[in-house]
Amino acid sequence: MTKNTRRDFIKTAAAATSTALLPLPALAQGAAGRVVVVGGGFAGASCARAVKALDPRINVTLVEGSRTFTACPFSNTVLAGMREITAQQFGYDKVAASGVTMAFAAASAVNAQARTVTLADGAQLNYDRLVLAPGIDIRWNGLPGYDEAAASVMPHAWRAGEQTVLLRRQLEAMEDGGLVVISAPANPFRCPPGPYERASLIAHYLKTRKPKSKLIVLDAKDAFSKQRLFQNAWKELYPDLLEWVSLSSGGKVASVEPATKTLVTDFGRHQAAVANVIPPQKAAQIADAAGVSDRTGWCPVDAQTFESKQQQNIHVIGDAAIMGGMPKSAFSANSQAKVCAAAVVTLLAGQKPVEPRLINTCYSLVSPDYGISVAGVYRPKDGVLVDVEGAGGVSPADAPKAYREQEATFANGWFQTITTEVFG
Ligand SMILES: Cc1cc2nc3c(=O)[nH]c(=O)nc-3n(C[C@H](O)[C@H](O)[C@H](O)COP(=O)(O)OP(=O)(O)OC[C@H]3O[C@@H](n4cnc5c(N)ncnc54)[C@H](O)[C@@H]3O)c2cc1C
Repeated sequence: MTKNTRRDFIKTAAAATSTALLPLPALAQGAAGRVVVVGGGFAGASCARAVKALDPRINVTLVEGSRTFTACPFSNTVLAGMREITAQQFGYDKVAASGVTMAFAAASAVNAQARTVTLADGAQLNYDRLVLAPGIDIRWNGLPGYDEAAASVMPHAWRAGEQTVLLRRQLEAMEDGGLVVISAPANPFRCPPGPYERASLIAHYLKTRKPKSKLIVLDAKDAFSKQRLFQNAWKELYPDLLEWVSLSSGGKVASVEPATKTLVTDFGRHQAAVANVIPPQKAAQIADAAGVSDRTGWCPVDAQTFESKQQQNIHVIGDAAIMGGMPKSAFSANSQAKVCAAAVVTLLAGQKPVEPRLINTCYSLVSPDYGISVAGVYRPKDGVLVDVEGAGGVSPADAPKAYREQEATFANGWFQTITTEVFG
């Protein structure tokens, strides 16, 4: 393989999301090194596996705080009683079998000068390149009244697991005729279409099980992802059930009162039977400890290599990173993981990374057999990732029923594919 075709292969492998990465011949003599990845989600587990596949001589350690990963994509179907939480859960046996060393402990500190990561159990790992993929934390001081105790009454369910199950149980326990309120945050946040898919599937649950109930979405924005498609579908499927209140119509929640499950806006008070507060978010705490997050709470990175703009030899991928227009999704996280892996391997080999192209597709279910999607292709420009014009787009506004059914099938297929690729 010539240098150019080899580079082209890395570029293609990095951008493809459902194609298995094939091991490459060694990129350079003596290029092996130590790569530590923190966070075994869609970004981190994908990246660890991709680095190992690209150069099996590299010593790759994946640090993850939990032995079971609970996936957020499709967790809205758990809320609607369409599947159980166990269908969202994955272990790391196959990741370990691919040659990645698993370290099950939370990373608690990073010393960027000494190039070490300290784990909660006291162990210390040395690295040549560190990849941080820790996802999000809730910004607990971001919405007055919303702290960890409030989340046990008004769940966010924005990190899947116990919170998802709690919100589902609350919906199940609610009497027919109850009011469900969802509050959606301002940008940026994990999964831009997620609150609207959630509203749709909870509306489906209410329509089929508790038809006298009502759902209000209070929004801190005037526009959202796939808005026209969602709103057309809501008119068709949930006309008297689901109401969306935009920022300019007074939708922004200014504070919450957990004792009475009340959401307060500048224009009124909404007392809910079930309140789902999706609060403001930030990069997970280890990003602050490593000195890679900035005043926004997110981590600015180089759009070509995902190396932190604040600390050398540390890369940040997935939801924790900001690099322009690419939305925070599992699909994006997986694309970024492959590009970052190729860049890390290339940099360890003393070579210059190639300019990547990245893909994202986000499917949303509006009902079990009604799917819609948005897709985009991204490239680095002036230090950030920008849309490749003319690539991507959203589902057609006037598609027939069969098309929506097919997209719902594609959505299911995508989840199977990505979870098999990352954890299978
Ligand atoms: C309701 C909902 C629906 C969604 N639907 C979709 C969808 O349909 N399609 C889509 O593409 N995306 C979807 N998303 C978005 C998707 O879940 C995220 O974008 C994706 O999980 C980001 O991957 P990540 O690897 O950055 O973070 P995560 O997947 O959250 O993984 C982070 C991992 O890091 C670990 N970790 C954190 N800190 C530490 C530490 N200090 N030490 C060790 N480990 C640590 C965590 O335990 C976790 O396992 C949805 C999100 C939500 C909330």
